Amino acid sequence: MLSQEYLADRKAHLQNKLLYIMSKEDSTQVKSLADNPRFAKIKNALQRIEDGDYGYCQSCQQEIEKQRLNYLPETPLCLACAKNH
Ligand SMILES: [Zn+2]
Repeated sequence: MLSQEYLADRKAHLQNKLLYIMSKEDSTQVKSLADNPRFAKIKNALQRIEDGDYGYCQSCQQEIEKQRLNYLPETPLCLACAKNH
């Protein structure tokens, strides 16, 4: 079970990543942002934080390794499942 502090920290981190991606995008390319898979992944991770199922693998429902979340906060999969993909 992830602590509220940890979730808040991941949320801030993900929001910074979103802002960074948006700052890199030309305003004339707004459409491409929705098609950016990285952007979508981060958006999904933020949604999962809101829904309370962040940190659980979308494939096997096990908790994702914290080390992995630290490194790749937007990941929806645990290490074992990511390897099988
Ligand atoms: Zn898994």
